[in-house]
Amino acid sequence: NIVYLNGSWVAAEDAKVSVFDRGFLFADGIYEVVTVYSGRPFLLDEHLQRLQRSLKALHLQHALDLDYRQLIAQLIERNQVDNGLVYIQVTRGAEAQRSHLPQTEMTTPTIFATVSPLTPHWDTPEPVRVCLLEDIRWLRCDIKSISLLGNIMLKQEAANRGGAEAILHRNGSITEGTSANYFAVRDGKLWTAPADHLILPGITRIWTIELARQCGIEVIEQAFTVNDLDTLDELFLTSSSREIQPVAQIDDKIIAAGRVGPITQRLIEAFHDSKRRHLEQ
Ligand code: PMP
Repeated sequence: NIVYLNGSWVAAEDAKVSVFDRGFLFADGIYEVVTVYSGRPFLLDEHLQRLQRSLKALHLQHALDLDYRQLIAQLIERNQVDNGLVYIQVTRGAEAQRSHLPQTEMTTPTIFATVSPLTPHWDTPEPVRVCLLEDIRWLRCDIKSISLLGNIMLKQEAANRGGAEAILHRNGSITEGTSANYFAVRDGKLWTAPADHLILPGITRIWTIELARQCGIEVIEQAFTVNDLDTLDELFLTSSSREIQPVAQIDDKIIAAGRVGPITQRLIEAFHDSKRRHLEQ
């Protein structure tokens, strides 16, 4: 496994960073994940735009100029990736002393990229159970920060309760999962939380909205509420690695008779079609 670290290509076991790296000390950094199908990154422009947005939010100016498109192409080539997940992480870099306030705008950021194998879905995934939990995270969930303690604690809590994911609520509104966005189906329409500071603007979320509109399904970008949960017909999660993941159960409440609902199924097929078109391009 060949990884990229600060301009060099090295074996994963030889890639080392300083213990004074602000990523290690403060989780002062951001990341991005891109799926690769048949050696080609999927929805790359959208992922690169989000990466630029994250870098700007942290004022990581020096990391903006790197050609990430070429970096990803090389990563795929050097590792001979067929299907995979590219992971890119940028931290503010190492400084002489631990200090909350970044010492200088000139600190060289630490840029790391690796790729791991992925088995793409070509069939309909088994529906999963999720757990409803209070969203305890901060108020800038729109930044793809490497500081994921809230997400990890919530994922762990969901797992302890037998859930594959959590569905998070804040002040009565459903925000997202710990590593996925959600779509609720009611009366043939899709509902998903708006892309504001309370959620990570998922690339799969945007793509699902686009596919739904192409299918003539109305999408309402308004958070579903905890009170509305009794009225939903179908529920699914979206993320780059999960694609469209049907949900069969929220805690003990069964959804869509525990099966994959018709709208979810239609969108899963539209998603697979879009991947096929991507491979043929
Ligand atoms: N929300 C959160 C909190 C996430 O970490 C992720 C990514 N794993 C998503 C949503 C989905 O984003 P994407 O579709 O870009 O993978």
